[in-house]
Amino acid sequence: MDHFEFRDGVLHVEDVPLPAIAAAVGTPVYIYSAATLRRHAQVFREGLTGVERKHLAYAIKANPNVAVLRVLANEGYGADVVSAGEMRRALAAGIPAADIVFSGVGKTRAELAAALDEGIGQFNLELEEEGVVLAALAAERGMRAPATLRVNPDVDAGTHAKISTGRKENKFGVPIDQAPAMFDRLAGLPGLDLRGVACHIGSQLFDLAPLEAAYQRIGRLVADLRGAGHTITHVDLGGGLGVPYKSGDMPPSPADYGAMVARVTQGWDAELMFEPGRVIAGNAGVLLTEIVWVKPGVVHPYVIVDAAMNDLARPALYDAWHDFVAVTPTGERMTANIAGPVCESGDTFAMGRDIDAVKGGDLAVFRTAGAYGATMASTYNSRALVPEVLVDGDRFAVVADRIAAETILAAERVPEWLSA
Ligand SMILES: *Cc1c(COP(=O)(O)O)cnc(C)c1O
Repeated sequence: MDHFEFRDGVLHVEDVPLPAIAAAVGTPVYIYSAATLRRHAQVFREGLTGVERKHLAYAIKANPNVAVLRVLANEGYGADVVSAGEMRRALAAGIPAADIVFSGVGKTRAELAAALDEGIGQFNLELEEEGVVLAALAAERGMRAPATLRVNPDVDAGTHAKISTGRKENKFGVPIDQAPAMFDRLAGLPGLDLRGVACHIGSQLFDLAPLEAAYQRIGRLVADLRGAGHTITHVDLGGGLGVPYKSGDMPPSPADYGAMVARVTQGWDAELMFEPGRVIAGNAGVLLTEIVWVKPGVVHPYVIVDAAMNDLARPALYDAWHDFVAVTPTGERMTANIAGPVCESGDTFAMGRDIDAVKGGDLAVFRTAGAYGATMASTYNSRALVPEVLVDGDRFAVVADRIAAETILAAERVPEWLSA
């Protein structure tokens, strides 16, 4: 459920009509619903009522806007971060350092040191050498770094190849069969409190079976590690739950997921950690755009919108589908291609799609744009960086400015030797 609905024929986000935001901020613009973010945070938590000890860390990379983080911090969520930049955002939003998990396959020495200095709650190690370096950095500081070893359970998550992370040929985690020996070697390091294991097999998962298979492998590993004398207190089960992008899509619900987790992890006797991203933010956001032209095409007309692949990269990156809905639909339909102004054929959001009939100057939204949307935006083609708005009831605020092409140009310079 979300809070995007038509009232008197006009699409609203909570109590705010979208034309009001277009008039105040311009287009394209991302718009998030605070009530929807809160609801998703609560539904995910409720799904896990069968899990006694749990830690919820929102995966910031899905939508790192600091106002979004504040909404989720107020819901009691910690954060899963994958860079020092994300760590700074989580801290700026008021998330306690102890509730932050640091994931990522390429954490630099400087990032590890900065995270130790902030007192980050857990490091998810991606390779043995990282554990050795982290232990040394922690020992220098008279600390023991809380850590888990991320293992690659070698399951096919059945999702798009570019967002699959749990097959043995992927770059993430250590092979699960090598984990016990690595654990033995790392657990003895004085600078490390190696307290558990972690996994994350992919994103936009529509089938619980691969997750269940992965968790069962993790359960066996935990038993083996304990059998070898290790103390395991934390198991991080990652994120990855899918969301509906198309009407009719039926991803597993947080309740289904939670029931599976409760069943598989029964008797594990550990704090379970979760890193949901897309399932919290995806359907809490839309990208509002204005139709620039309707250009006649050979087969179907092209609806040229003022949003482009630099604002919303998912269709170009993953062939992703985003529902396209007019803000004031007339009831008429048309079959059209939808494309942005960028000079790439990949800047196409849909081909031959049945959509609300639109004309130049109309407003429309791409739905389910709250996750992996604005955060992936660029300024390609010297376009402005897309702004973000948060709606909360009948209020709205610009929570990220539109950064003008001139501002970006101002950060560039011609070296003196090229002067005329
Ligand atoms: C991306 C990522 C997540 C979040 O994935 P979603 O599919 O958005 O839930 C969680 N954990 C790790 C380690 C990730 O890389």
